[in-house]
Amino acid sequence: MTATASTVPSVARLFHDRVFASADREAFRVPEPDGTWRSITWGATGERVGELAAGLVALGIEAGDRVAVMCSTRYEWITCDLAIMCAGGATTTVYPSTAAPDVAYILADSGSRVVFAEDAEQVAKLRAHREELPDVGAVVLIDGTPADLPGNDDGWVTGIDDLAARGRALTETSPDAVANRIDAIGPDDLATLIYTSGTTGRPKGVRLPQKAWTYQGDALTKLDLVRPDDLQYLWLPLAHSFGKVLLSAQLAIGFASAVDGRVDKIVDNMGVVRPTMMAAAPRIFEKAHARIVTTIAAEGGPKAKLFDWAISVGRKVSDLTLAGKRVPPLLAAQHRVADKLVLSKIRDRFGGRVRFFVSGSAALAPDLAHWFHAAGVIILEGYGMTENAAGGSVNELSRYRIGTVGRPLPGTEIKIGDDGEVLLRSPSVMTGYHNLPEQTAEALDDDGFLHTGDIGELDADGYLRITDRKKDLFKTSGGKYVAPQAIEGQMLAVCPYVSQVVVHGEGRNHCTALLTLDADALQGWAANNGLAGRDHASLVTSPEVQTMVQGYVDTLNGRLNRWETIKKFTILDRELSLEEGELTPSMKIRRKDVEKRHQAALDALYTG
Ligand code: AMP
Repeated sequence: MTATASTVPSVARLFHDRVFASADREAFRVPEPDGTWRSITWGATGERVGELAAGLVALGIEAGDRVAVMCSTRYEWITCDLAIMCAGGATTTVYPSTAAPDVAYILADSGSRVVFAEDAEQVAKLRAHREELPDVGAVVLIDGTPADLPGNDDGWVTGIDDLAARGRALTETSPDAVANRIDAIGPDDLATLIYTSGTTGRPKGVRLPQKAWTYQGDALTKLDLVRPDDLQYLWLPLAHSFGKVLLSAQLAIGFASAVDGRVDKIVDNMGVVRPTMMAAAPRIFEKAHARIVTTIAAEGGPKAKLFDWAISVGRKVSDLTLAGKRVPPLLAAQHRVADKLVLSKIRDRFGGRVRFFVSGSAALAPDLAHWFHAAGVIILEGYGMTENAAGGSVNELSRYRIGTVGRPLPGTEIKIGDDGEVLLRSPSVMTGYHNLPEQTAEALDDDGFLHTGDIGELDADGYLRITDRKKDLFKTSGGKYVAPQAIEGQMLAVCPYVSQVVVHGEGRNHCTALLTLDADALQGWAANNGLAGRDHASLVTSPEVQTMVQGYVDTLNGRLNRWETIKKFTILDRELSLEEGELTPSMKIRRKDVEKRHQAALDALYTG
């Protein structure tokens, strides 16, 4: 196993080497308030990280100490994280959306000594629980002035520029302070504590060592995927392993990233930044697809007909290409016309330069991947989890199979257990859950394999297919297993208006579903069906919308086993949300929480 580990001992060293090799090249691009983008070099990033790292040393951070970052996805998140590691510390990641009691739990459980807080709102959460945080000696404020904060007479909160100034002062007297820290970091030292969202109970701190990230950087470099001249559009939450692994790849490969964590800005920003690649959770691709097809459907007439024709031509070409077959000349000629008039316009929505997208974090519906492929947009699906620093398998540009999550990364072993569970071993597997020896022993076996809790299959060529989660399989009272995620994925693919689905049926005699509809898409449908001007809540209960959705559910049911069919459904009047505790920060549905919260609506589906 060690044979595949990176020869670079730490993330700090990897970063240092990158700054040295690429000092004058662009590293990051950040949005300015006036809508323009500012470019920052590796050299400038190295300078900022160096002074912040020295500032942490001056604050008293010792090797191995935990320092938390509670901030949205932006350049400052990255410099803080790198500074922590260059000071020999380990980063505890906290989503800015995490509620105050959970923040307090995570900071106390991790024993974090300093916290980088994005703004006054984040500081207020810390203040509210200060007595539970005796280990937190200082808070560093990223935006704003500490003197303006209520209750800061105690000087608990320091400004980030003050920290940098302290770092510069330290460097004058001890020029090697940070370099010595970097030299001392070994591959097994703790790099990051990421708290998994956990679908029930308290979050668990996943302990990822330095070699988890350096391995990921190495392995991704070996794939036919990202190149040094790529421009990434980075929006994923960096508190999550999927976002974080992209940073390791960036340090190892040296491409540039435009960074903006605002989800509502993705498509508009892509038109301006014109990136060559982006990674995202499937929901983003579902939304983009829904927006495009419903806009066209609402326009109707010859434009919609032309669109459908172009997609069908694109699909024929896509099917032949994916099967390794030749495209006949007539179809190729039609495809040139379809591409010019329609398909290229779809690609232009994403800036027109995208070489590929990567989808991960949850299952991507194959129909959606096929639709994008028909438009000339490649979505490469990958698979992993926080417990293995996100990168387990991925499709590559020169070899990809839609419906699979690709082949194991070089140096990662994947096998299927007797009960179908995906078992994974690599240098990036966690050393364990923080302070949870029993749960660690359940997740890691004696041979070092991580038990993922996912059910999957490997085909003859080594491509992995995730068929469901062991943790989510349920049995109806008839004793038949139902794989809810597979059905939910099909429903999303069948109906462009549905935005979220929860299939329910554990211990019941048949399955039902809770659905939500995409507000924009529904308004477009309403305008076309004589219901313009009605609000979302009244639309979802209208007989017209119920009938429309029933039609799609009937189509879905036609594709399912009898025991899997959705006998009844309820359309909720709003989307499931993070605020209501129905989604994890990485936008996964908290199935059990949703079922509990909407218990009455579900029960009603089983009466009468
Ligand atoms: P997290 O630790 O939040 O990244 O969640 C990891 C889990 O997300 C995995 O164990 C899978 O259940 C799920 N997951 C990640 N990628 C995929 C994928 N491509 N297809 C299906 N499930 C996935």
